[in-house]
Amino acid sequence: MGHPVLRTKAQPIPPSEITSQRIQRLVDDLFETMREYSGIGLAAPQVHEGLRVFVAGLRPPEAAAGELNDDTDMPFITLINPQITPVGDEMISGWEGCLSIPDIRGLVPRASRIQVKAYDRNGRIIELAARGLPARVIQHETDHLDGILFFDRMNSFESLTFSDEYRRYWTEDEDD
Ligand SMILES: [Zn+2]
Repeated sequence: MGHPVLRTKAQPIPPSEITSQRIQRLVDDLFETMREYSGIGLAAPQVHEGLRVFVAGLRPPEAAAGELNDDTDMPFITLINPQITPVGDEMISGWEGCLSIPDIRGLVPRASRIQVKAYDRNGRIIELAARGLPARVIQHETDHLDGILFFDRMNSFESLTFSDEYRRYWTEDEDD
């Protein structure tokens, strides 16, 4: 937090460039960095690349188009130039953290269900429906592409907590 790229609107990736070595290497780097830091999502601006791409998920294989709704078993996804449409107007508050804001968590309201249209890393157009944790992660990461951090989405800063206190007071035995 503080690097200007995190507050800058990222540029779309021309579809014809998605399969280029540069973009493929960037996607690989994002996955590698996300795993290294035990994150559940990582957007290009977080590694100082102002491009509209992020990776997310907890396990292989990569998800195909369809619905992501399982809170505990989210497959890897790569979304390029994503467009999110909320489904309904239900908002739900949940805990978020961010690799760009280490060791701090807060309660953030998000649309509970979304539709996403994007390119995958092979340059194919995909459509996903998501709810639960995957919907939250996709909204958090898409915000990074618009220079928005999760603090900006909070209704109040009262819930802000350090990771140690989060583990001590706000969760039983949950990992990141
Ligand atoms: Zn983040």
